[in-house]
Amino acid sequence: MLESADVVIIGTGVAGLYCALNLPEDKRIIIITKSSLEKSDSYLAQGGICVLKDEQDYDSFFQDTLRAGHYENNMDSVQQMIRKSPEVIHDLIRHGVEFEQRDGKVLYTKEGAHSTERILYHKDITGQEITKKLLEQVKKKRNVVLMEYTQMIDLICYKNCCFGVITRSKDGVVKRLDATYTVLATGGIGGLYEDSTNYSHLTGDSLALAIKHDVAIKNIDYIQIHPTTLYSVKPGRRFLISESVRGEGAYLLNEKRQRFVDELLPRDVLTRKIYQQMQYEHSQHVWLSLVHFESNRIINRFPNIYKRCLEDGIDITKECIPVTPAQHYFMGGIEVNLQSKTSMEHLYAVGETSCNGVHGANRLASNSLLESLVFAKEAALHITNTFHKTNHIPMNVALADYENFECMQRNNKELILREIERMKQSEQRNNIKIKCG
Ligand SMILES: Cc1cc2nc3c(=O)[nH]c(=O)nc-3n(C[C@H](O)[C@H](O)[C@H](O)COP(=O)(O)OP(=O)(O)OC[C@H]3O[C@@H](n4cnc5c(N)ncnc54)[C@H](O)[C@@H]3O)c2cc1C
Repeated sequence: MLESADVVIIGTGVAGLYCALNLPEDKRIIIITKSSLEKSDSYLAQGGICVLKDEQDYDSFFQDTLRAGHYENNMDSVQQMIRKSPEVIHDLIRHGVEFEQRDGKVLYTKEGAHSTERILYHKDITGQEITKKLLEQVKKKRNVVLMEYTQMIDLICYKNCCFGVITRSKDGVVKRLDATYTVLATGGIGGLYEDSTNYSHLTGDSLALAIKHDVAIKNIDYIQIHPTTLYSVKPGRRFLISESVRGEGAYLLNEKRQRFVDELLPRDVLTRKIYQQMQYEHSQHVWLSLVHFESNRIINRFPNIYKRCLEDGIDITKECIPVTPAQHYFMGGIEVNLQSKTSMEHLYAVGETSCNGVHGANRLASNSLLESLVFAKEAALHITNTFHKTNHIPMNVALADYENFECMQRNNKELILREIERMKQSEQRNNIKIKCG
C-alpha cells in the first residue's frame, strides 16, 4: 500500500516532536523513527537547557555563545535562538515540562564557558523530562501517526525537490512514503565512532543522503568531543558525566590527585588539556572529584550519575570518577536558513543533523536542546505559511535497488567519513583526531 502524508518527519527526538506539535491539525503528519520512540539522544541530555532569563543577560549570552564557537557562528541564528528562547520554554512548561524550582522560583545552573547561571534543568535528566512530555503531547494528536522501527533509507527527489522518503521496516520491508514536505530530524553522527556518548543507531543517515543528492552541507568536520565521559574498557555507548557537575564545583585531578586545569574552560580547549595530561602521564583517563561535596547534595542533584557510577562500582560520594573525552556532538550538518529550509525544495532539516551556524566551530553547553526546539518551530511555521502541493510527483521508484541494505549502510558511513576528511584537509582545520569504528 502506498503511504502518504502532508508532512513526514524523520526522528522522534525533541526536534522532530516539537516540529510536529507546531504544525496545524488539519495536516496529516507521519513521524518515523529507526528505533523505539524513546531511543534518541534527546532522552539522554542531562545538564539542561539555556534560556534568556532577563534582558540584562542578552549580551552576555550572545557573547558566551560566540566565544565558545570561536566567532564562526552565524549571528542571525544566534540572535534568533536567544530571542525565541523564553517563548519556547514557556511552551515546554505549557506541555507539562517541570524545571527545578525553590520557593516558587525556577533555579538556574551553570556549565563550562557560561559567564553566569542561565540553564534550566530537571535533576540530571532534563532531556528525558522534555522529550517524554513532548512525546505524550504528540501521542494525543489525531492527525499524527508515529511509526517505530522504520528507517529512512533514501529521499524521493526529482529536479531538486523532495517528495518524501523510502523506508525500511525492522523485518526488511521497503516502501515509499510520499509527502508534500519532508523534515529531517535524525540527530547526530556518534554511531560512526568507537567512543561516543550518542546512541549507536545515530549514524548521520540524513547527512549521507544529503551528500548523495547534492543537498548543501556545512562545517561537517566540526565535531565536538566531550571532555568528561566515564572511562570504561567495555564496548558500547560512553556514559556522560555532565558539565553541570563541573559547573557546580567538581575538580579535575591528575594521577597525583592534584588539580591541573580550569574545569570551566570551553569544551574543545578543556578536551585538549585533558588529552595532553593523559599523554604526559601515559594514562587512559584523568579523575573527576566530587568528594568535597556533601553526600546528600550529590545524591539529590545528580541522582542518575550517582546511580550509573555505582553500577560500575564507583561511589562518587567517596571516590573519584575516572573520566576520558569521547565524541559527543556534531556542530556541522545539512545547511539550512533561519527557517530550517535546506537547499532542496520541500526539504527541511532540524536539530543536530542540521547546521544553521548557531554553534560556530564549537557548541556552548546546553545550547543544543534550545537550538533544536527553536529551529524546529521555525520549520513548522514556514511549512504552514508556505504550504502548497507540488505539481510533479515522480511515480517510478525502483524499490529493488534497496535490497542490499548492509552494503548501503557501509557505503553511507564511508561517504560521510570521506567527506569529513576531505573538508578537514581542504580547510586545513586543526581538529582533534578521534578513532573511527
Ligand atoms: C549524553 C548526552 C547528553 C546531552 N546533554 C545535553 C544537555 O544537557 N543540554 C543540551 O542542550 N544538549 C545536550 N545533548 C545534546 C542534545 O541532546 C542533542 O543535540 C539533541 O537532543 C538532538 O536532538 P535531535 O532531535 O536533533 O536528535 P535526537 O534526539 O538524537 O533524535 C534523532 C532521532 O532520529 C531517529 N533517526 C536517526 N536516523 C534515522 C533514520 N535513518 N530513519 C528514521 N529515524 C532515524 C532516531 O531514532 C531518533 O529518534 C546531550 C547529548 C548526549 C548524547
